[in-house]
Amino acid sequence: MRMVVTDNKKRIYDIPHLEAAGMEGGHFFRLSRADFIKLPHGSELFTLPGRIPVGYDPAINKFSVFSNLYAVAAFTSPGYTVTHNTAYLESPKAAMLPLFSYGAVTSFKGEFYVAAVRVDRERRQDLRFMDIDNVKTGVKEIIKLFPKNRLIRHLKGCALTYGCPAAKNFFLKRYEAPLPTSPYCNAMCIGCISHQPKKGCSITQPRIKFKPTPGEVAEVALYHIKNVKDPVVSFGQGCEGEPLMVGDILNESIKMIRQKTSKGMINLNTNASLPGTIAKLFDEGLDSIRVSLNSVNTKYYTAYYKPKGYSFKDVKRSIKIAKKKGGFVSLNYLTVPGFTDLKGEFSAFKDFIGKHKVDMIQWRNLNYDPVRYFTEMRIKPAYADMLGMKYVINALSKRFPKVITGYFNPSNRRIKRGKRL
Ligand code: SF4
Repeated sequence: MRMVVTDNKKRIYDIPHLEAAGMEGGHFFRLSRADFIKLPHGSELFTLPGRIPVGYDPAINKFSVFSNLYAVAAFTSPGYTVTHNTAYLESPKAAMLPLFSYGAVTSFKGEFYVAAVRVDRERRQDLRFMDIDNVKTGVKEIIKLFPKNRLIRHLKGCALTYGCPAAKNFFLKRYEAPLPTSPYCNAMCIGCISHQPKKGCSITQPRIKFKPTPGEVAEVALYHIKNVKDPVVSFGQGCEGEPLMVGDILNESIKMIRQKTSKGMINLNTNASLPGTIAKLFDEGLDSIRVSLNSVNTKYYTAYYKPKGYSFKDVKRSIKIAKKKGGFVSLNYLTVPGFTDLKGEFSAFKDFIGKHKVDMIQWRNLNYDPVRYFTEMRIKPAYADMLGMKYVINALSKRFPKVITGYFNPSNRRIKRGKRL
């Protein structure tokens, strides 16, 4: 499991006599073959500016540092959860890393491997099934059908300019279609990919600038539901703020959709900040919610989400209401090795799953600088407190046999299958 680095010309090397090391919360780990999987198709390799690579030297049983080279990390494709970050030390004055996740990489028999586990087998966002020419054909076809629909034009930009897999799937008539609606948000997440207050940390896609009408939303949703066998349509996308901020549009859209069809799942990806609005949406016909959180500890939740006008109590109330109304509840668990697998985080999360009768855990890598995150959370994690991401994922799967482990918003058939892959 050779160490992989780049030089100042971004040429990638492996160092045969050194092993790749992992990092959790600034602590270095010696990794073994069992920690790695082949780099999944569609993943990307990054060279990290201002990051000095750290490897393990078995000859002297020590970690070694290379100040004239750069660390390499993998941004894994959807469906995989990183268990160890790439190991590095920050150079003085290094800038914050952009909003991606940074998995440990090694080379083995001429191929790249990453420290990650597969949590979902669906090929929903597998680029091998998303030919860009087919996407373009779909764009032409659907815009011709709905020339006045501004939301479809917005999704065209998402698919062709920003490469959004959800928007591409809409134009390919596959799996799940996105229904972005809200230019506003009542949180200021440090890792928000559509709005960044801080200088120096760029967003990965701009926020939608208009509120689509319920008619425009329903047109997109109904077209998708009609043309896909086991469809999901989802409010709450990376290119918008919080959909609950435009609850009336969601309510009216769901009413228009359910007046025409009972097919498919209507899902809401949300920060679950407004329990009253959540209640109305389920009364109107919403089927499922996916609640995003980095922690169930209020202090870490608040440090990440910086909520405005709501608190973590409201989030818990929303989940209770959703369950009471028979809704399917997923948690979009934003994971960071060295934080998520801390004993305290693990036991609090375990209690939360049991108490709130959560139906699914979506293990999502948090796209954030893996060293600066701990500064933001004001925590210096202890090595002895780390259980390992793999342990945490497996232990919760065993502890809650009915709770689905995955990555993607489930369709009706997926829910029926439960834990069966
Ligand atoms: S809740 Fe969503 S849209 Fe709002 S700041 Fe957080 S990530 Fe961004």
